[in-house]
Amino acid sequence: MTVPSERYLARALRRLAGLVCVLLLAPAWSQGPASDAPVKPSGVDATLRRLVPADSLENSAAQQYSQLKQGAAQKRALAPENHPDLIRLRAITQRMLPIAPRWNERARSWHWEVNLLGSAQVNAFCMPGGKIAVYSGLLKNLQPTDDELAVVIGHEIAHALLEHSRGRIAKDQLTQLGATALSHLLNLGQIGNSALGLGANMLSLKFSRGDETEADRVGLELAARAGYDPRAGVTLWQKMERASGGAPPEWLSSHPAGNNRIREIEAELPRVLPLYNPTSGAQSR
Ligand SMILES: [Zn+2]
Repeated sequence: MTVPSERYLARALRRLAGLVCVLLLAPAWSQGPASDAPVKPSGVDATLRRLVPADSLENSAAQQYSQLKQGAAQKRALAPENHPDLIRLRAITQRMLPIAPRWNERARSWHWEVNLLGSAQVNAFCMPGGKIAVYSGLLKNLQPTDDELAVVIGHEIAHALLEHSRGRIAKDQLTQLGATALSHLLNLGQIGNSALGLGANMLSLKFSRGDETEADRVGLELAARAGYDPRAGVTLWQKMERASGGAPPEWLSSHPAGNNRIREIEAELPRVLPLYNPTSGAQSR
């Protein structure tokens, strides 16, 4: 890909500050028993999520994603279809998609997209409805293996499958609307699009630590079931730690628990390693 201009990067950084998925948040999950059962959405906030129409949210995300792509293309920061890194990202993602409906039936009808954006950031995201982007800075700084990339993409896909944006938007809007409006809306059953402000920038949403924990667990499982070694979650985070050495970015200083995250991923391995079959390919088990 053409190296994006500094101006574009500066703008992109501003625009994407507080990105949908802050990969580097450090969750603290409790170690559950090893089991073949997939991690299911916790059910927490399920009522709130139902207040937000999923199809409206996905349509809005698709529009935002399209605008993001157009903007990147104009700045020569959108990888062309034949870019080797993009082909690689799409191949890895493709192996995980048949497994995705285990967590969300809607995923069967999503129009999945994967794009590579020119940006120095070590980051990636998946918007509601399966709109994925990986930043070139992640590839450049981490030099990830396929297994490690599967863990990254699996984590992002998990956010979309578990509808974390939907829950976050519902909470944010209800907080703004107040208790009286909340009561009214609960009677109505759904929040209207105007009240939701679905035009708001979805990339500015911040997930909770609980959301990150869920995404980590489901992401590892997605990778393992697709035939990618979930132990790559450990080496991925070791690389993240090394990449952040010297001048820790804001996300690390505000979430100084990289080592904890590695320990937590290690604790999750007894559950997901039995699901890993290197020759399984894209079987939906
Ligand atoms: Zn995340």
